[in-house]
Amino acid sequence: MIISGKDLSAKMKANMAAEVAELEKKYGRAPHLAVLLVGEDAGSVSYVTGKAKACDAVGIRNTTIRRPAAATEEEILQVIETLNDDEGVDGILVQLPLPEHIDEDRVIAAIRKEKDVDGFHPLNVAALWMKQPCSLPCTPKGIIKLLKASGVELQGKRAVVVGRSNIVGLPVAKLLLDENATVTVTHSRTRNLGEVTRNAEILVVAIGRPKFITGDMVSEGTVVIDVGVNRDPGTGKLCGDVDFAAVEPKASLITPVPGGVGPMTIACLMENTIECFLRKMK
Ligand code: NDP
Repeated sequence: MIISGKDLSAKMKANMAAEVAELEKKYGRAPHLAVLLVGEDAGSVSYVTGKAKACDAVGIRNTTIRRPAAATEEEILQVIETLNDDEGVDGILVQLPLPEHIDEDRVIAAIRKEKDVDGFHPLNVAALWMKQPCSLPCTPKGIIKLLKASGVELQGKRAVVVGRSNIVGLPVAKLLLDENATVTVTHSRTRNLGEVTRNAEILVVAIGRPKFITGDMVSEGTVVIDVGVNRDPGTGKLCGDVDFAAVEPKASLITPVPGGVGPMTIACLMENTIECFLRKMK
């Protein structure tokens, strides 16, 4: 069975649209997300456009602030400071990656943690690992929602995460652990990866390599979550990190690319923006 992130995210957005309409009545304004886009990278421009569209659908006010790729780090920090101080801005998102001459960590750390809708600020990362209230990173949050909405029992299950990035692999491993799964995190130095992935009851793959997980690496009945967004070198079409055609017949549940984790990430960004707004208003 295919898990549709597209359908679940559409339901979430419809519910949030109703909620935002109520919030606007109650507080006199809608939540406001500011997105900072540095440069003209086609992928980043398309992600930012998708986020703005989702904001419009939900009724979240959104502003995109554009700076040229040649902008200095100080200029970018200045934009962040202005947004931090703006009482009318509830959430700040810096579209990554930033041009190489800008220190991403420094820019993320400059965002006020209360406005950090991506959950990448060091204090939000710490709060996640200490199980304290925080903005959860959108992709991992969306993955847990997809699993739960699909009725997947996580407690006690053997979950294997392939990839250990700060934005996907590590936080999703932590959230699975919080759901009482038994979690193994693998990476590029893992020996006999197939042996580990074949042991998974739940397999989350976030490595950025087209169709890397082949049919022989997955056991019958596994729940497979494919986070990857890649171009198939053969066809040029979007594809995941999982060889969908080979793995789908063996998986009990699997997310497609596109239409799986991606739309959930955006829906969770909307949710995080509303949460930041509410924390401020309350
Ligand atoms: P990173 O490049 O930051 O991390 C990749 C991870 O994969 C690293 O931990 C790396 O290991 C591991 N890895 C690389 N090659 C192998 C291999 N051969 N075997 C095992 N592990 C390997 O990627 P991200 O986490 O940022 O993104 C991963 C994918 O997810 C990308 O395709 C990205 O586009 C997509 N993505 C999708 C999102 C969505 O909303 N759908 C959101 C975010 C990302 P090591 O640490 O040892 O180098």
